[in-house]
Amino acid sequence: MTTTHSEALFERAQKVIPGGVNSPVRSFRQVGGTPLFFKKGYGAYVVDVDDNVYVDYVNSWGTAILGHCHPAVVKAIQDMATQAISFGAPTEWEVMLAEQVCTRHPGIETLRCVNSGTEATMTAIRLARGVTSRDLIIKFQGGYHGHHDSLLLQAGSGALGLGKPSSAGIPEKVVQDTINLAFNDLVSLTEAFEQYGDRIAAVIVEPIAANMNLVLGTPAFLSGIIHLCKQYGALSIFDEVITGFRVHYAGAQGLYGLQPDLTTFGKIIGGGLPVGAIGGKASHMAHLSPLGPVYQAGTLSGNPLAMAAGLAQLSLLTPDAYERLSKTTYAFVHEFETLSKEYGIPMVFNQCTGLFGFYFTEQPQVTSFAEVMACDHARFRRFFHALCNKGVYFAPSACEAGFISMAHGAHEFELTLEAIRKIFQTGW
Ligand code: PLP
Repeated sequence: MTTTHSEALFERAQKVIPGGVNSPVRSFRQVGGTPLFFKKGYGAYVVDVDDNVYVDYVNSWGTAILGHCHPAVVKAIQDMATQAISFGAPTEWEVMLAEQVCTRHPGIETLRCVNSGTEATMTAIRLARGVTSRDLIIKFQGGYHGHHDSLLLQAGSGALGLGKPSSAGIPEKVVQDTINLAFNDLVSLTEAFEQYGDRIAAVIVEPIAANMNLVLGTPAFLSGIIHLCKQYGALSIFDEVITGFRVHYAGAQGLYGLQPDLTTFGKIIGGGLPVGAIGGKASHMAHLSPLGPVYQAGTLSGNPLAMAAGLAQLSLLTPDAYERLSKTTYAFVHEFETLSKEYGIPMVFNQCTGLFGFYFTEQPQVTSFAEVMACDHARFRRFFHALCNKGVYFAPSACEAGFISMAHGAHEFELTLEAIRKIFQTGW
């Protein structure tokens, strides 16, 4: 397998794009080596510029749940492009998308479309502060909610006022209104509310944390968040940018049977075009401009192309489709785990419809950020490259979840498991 065209493109890219990429995880910095440049995707496969074909478990970071370039999505984009690309004025398609989302989620009465997951969570935070007239936000270690200032906080800075930004360019005082607690730790959360309850505007959580590989929130933790928020007059925000429309017909909130005050979406809702959204009870959402004083706007928000792609994708995501996806995910992870046992490789696996996580570790389970950080990431890096060489593309980071699309079937799993078996057999 050669990657000379990717290497040449990376050289060129670095001259005109910072680090050669438009989003850092793509750079392969976390695994070493040269990033692959892709030119084509179909179903469960991607093709790089050297014509190497890979079974893809990145899925545009979860966006392409139907598989790459699904004909229904492609047709919807093509049809729309001949009549409407962007007006910056209301269209029926925005109404249709909002209706789809509200129908699926009993806790969502109105929806505002934006252009990315980052915009969605940024808006949710501002909205929660506007609704409650409070400043403090609680997030959890290992949770990622996009790259806006108030949530880019270093792990471990738990107590109020001790927060340090995890990026240069963010004033310390901005993150000092953010409390960063351990995921799945209801005791710390309860203590934080006991101490700062009348100052907390919101708790934001990835209900299934997919940015520290994959760690499922426990039902007690997630319902505890909703309960504590209610008790203290704060808003609960489920960041479903990854889990929305992926783990269940009604996202993680549907799977767990919970109704947060606000929900943020991204990825799948746009069918591969740039879309995010925030939804919730009409009484909270009414604080957004133009109805209320919390300002939010966007030139391309709700543009017809993105709405068409999102509507086409959502129309195929029926409850039955999730049942099938759940079964294929479970079967694949089970086989992967069986191989690890057969070859005596200590690993932990987590999974949920269309999402899987695996860790090289002697620990019996991985349920927190601290446990994720204690895993053997060097071993992951070698595994990643060995898989790439065998035509299987996993996320180029030990902290990202694996994504299975509805286009992945028996053949793709066979190819993948055969590659894994060979790697486990020969060592890597
Ligand atoms: N929230 C979660 C849970 C995410 O995983 C991401 C991105 O991966 C975001 C928010 C930010 O979304 P975007 O990259 O579209 O800005």
